[in-house]
Amino acid sequence: MIEKVFSSEEFEAEYTYNGSDLGATWTKEETFFRLWSPTATKATLRLYKSGNTKNSDLTEEISMIPDVFGTWVAKKSGDLNGIYYTFAVTIDGKEYEAPDPYAKAVGVNGKRSMVIDLSETDPDGWDEDCGVFFDKRITDAVLYEMHVRDISSDISSGIEHKGKFLGLAEEGTKTLSGISTGLDHIKELGVTHIHFLPSYDYGSVDESAPDGTQYNWGYDPENFNVPEGSYSTDAENGATRIREMKEMIKTLHKNGIGAVLDVVYNHVYHTEEFCFNALTGGYFSRRDENGKWSSGSGCGNDTASERSMVRKYIVDSVKYWADEYHLDGFRFDLSGLLDIVTINEVIVEVHKTHPNVIIYLEGWDMPTAVTKPGIELAHMFNSEKMPGASFFSDTFRDLLRGRETEEKGFCAGAKGKKHAIDRCFMGMPFWCKTPVQCINYTSCHDGYTLFDKIALSCPELDFSQRVSINRLTAAITILSQGTPLFQAGEEMLRSKKHPDGTFEHNSYNCSDFVNSIKWSDLDIPEYRETFEYYKGLIAFRKAHGVLRMRSAEDVYSHITVMDIPDENLAAYHLWGNVNDEVSEAVLVIFNASSEEKEISLPVGSWKLCIDHKTAGTVPFAVAEEKFTVKPFSAAVLIK
Ligand code: CA
Repeated sequence: MIEKVFSSEEFEAEYTYNGSDLGATWTKEETFFRLWSPTATKATLRLYKSGNTKNSDLTEEISMIPDVFGTWVAKKSGDLNGIYYTFAVTIDGKEYEAPDPYAKAVGVNGKRSMVIDLSETDPDGWDEDCGVFFDKRITDAVLYEMHVRDISSDISSGIEHKGKFLGLAEEGTKTLSGISTGLDHIKELGVTHIHFLPSYDYGSVDESAPDGTQYNWGYDPENFNVPEGSYSTDAENGATRIREMKEMIKTLHKNGIGAVLDVVYNHVYHTEEFCFNALTGGYFSRRDENGKWSSGSGCGNDTASERSMVRKYIVDSVKYWADEYHLDGFRFDLSGLLDIVTINEVIVEVHKTHPNVIIYLEGWDMPTAVTKPGIELAHMFNSEKMPGASFFSDTFRDLLRGRETEEKGFCAGAKGKKHAIDRCFMGMPFWCKTPVQCINYTSCHDGYTLFDKIALSCPELDFSQRVSINRLTAAITILSQGTPLFQAGEEMLRSKKHPDGTFEHNSYNCSDFVNSIKWSDLDIPEYRETFEYYKGLIAFRKAHGVLRMRSAEDVYSHITVMDIPDENLAAYHLWGNVNDEVSEAVLVIFNASSEEKEISLPVGSWKLCIDHKTAGTVPFAVAEEKFTVKPFSAAVLIK
């Protein structure tokens, strides 16, 4: 079987190409093309006038010449900027035509690649643009997970470029009642990074169809190194999406916000048609012992990251995004299907030139048919072997909100979870040895929104009690050691409801009606106050180094878990000098019950900064000896 050969040492020794010129290298005088396809017996470069496969406008075919390490090369003189192209190869007597796996630009729907002079896509001031996170660590970040469409698609956003990259580049947008939306809202909230759901070119949305008629999260990659066309104002022009994504990132940076890209290297949309597979006879994806495509994720194929040219491809791709688009971080989707060596190589290579880039993984442990012996997978239970990466903590999520739909979590009063909550508050659930590796969250695109989950698991509680539980959950998420992440709109009680009022837990292809952020909700006092509450929590976290510790040693030396014999009441005493910041003592109390609870305070006078309805850095009350914590709420006092 060829797939056995692909993973053999002999094949790797003979056909690993380490050069940096795969794809099309443009200059004004000529463009050089290099394709890696050791299985092809013939390779042809095809040039087209347009990027749309509906147009039969082939202008030239150029035979490629076999070159070193299984590569094929071709050259074409003249300025090819804006010319579209594909590669055609013959494998086992059959011809396959596909876009360039290393394409930097593509036509509509990504079926033809485009030669591009990237300098023409740089917005004004791009040379001076840089990331926002120097001298900081991931635990200093507050991550905000967002779909490009959701933030602007609702009419109440007041944003002109609805559903587009440029919608995030609009400043000063407001609702009809004058409340800030979009970028201004996010800036006011105080998060440090927007984590974008997949925004490279994916396949499930027809870019030529009218805007707003389709929706997808985008976990179906087609062109890994190109932005998605449906988020641009002109998907037909290969340069537009690049320029507009850069414009968005530049505007975010100008406003002090970093950009993280959700990258999905673990699988592709169409297994056999995916360009890298089509042009090599299936090198990119794993097959099992029976010759079937391995599909641990259920998406039809798993990426063979253990093969040298796939590993190189992933490393090159992440580096390219960091270099060309000035991205500040990467979130790896289902990294448990990739291997540890690849992830570590990505981290080392990217940090050589971008030490501020943060990398975190959705590290679920999943079955997959790796194609070499001794391959270790990059899931969360191997976190110690990837010290530069952080991992989503589903432990934290399930404890706080409950795993099953109707199951209550700690925040809604479930008992028997306090010891585990202590571990999570210290940023070290059972699988994690340091808070630097722990991403704490209770909502993301997957599953019900936090507020919907609370409604479904607490039908007996009234609206204001549910709001309280939401705020308590946020307080634990944002004040725990590790790095907080939440889904956009959680701070304004986001709900994903169908027109008939039912809640949606998997909105990946639902309409804007279900998915959009409803900015007009901020006219409702409880929604507006919840936003203010999140704002205050984030500001408090940023102001206190003891909430952002960088090692287990620090955590154990600066946190005392207070001994309280109550399953629904947790309290922590933090103090000392960490991260070169002298912190005042901080007392954090979580009351996850429907009753008021009185707690004895350590000696001294304590100033209240956070209670059930107010959060911020400025104390607004003083307490000594005892303090009463309201039902379903957090209290934070400083000395
Ligand atoms: Ca697309």
